[in-house]
Amino acid sequence: MKLVAHRHLCQSYGNCLAVDPEHVDLDDEGLVFLLRDTVEEGELAKVQAGIRSCPVNALELVEADA
Ligand code: SF4
Repeated sequence: MKLVAHRHLCQSYGNCLAVDPEHVDLDDEGLVFLLRDTVEEGELAKVQAGIRSCPVNALELVEADA
């Protein structure tokens, strides 16, 4: 699976960073960007929690070849 960030939706809440700092960070403008988009099996629960934490659904999990 692969994590995708829809930066145009991000409202800089930072919830995702608090939950999943291995994958996401905020840039100088406070918008989310990905540190890494690959998601290992063992990371799935945390990544999904990070996705759910976003109030504007700016993060999405897709198939790795999508
Ligand atoms: S939780 Fe959503 S809106 Fe907030 S910083 Fe993360 S991606 Fe952006």
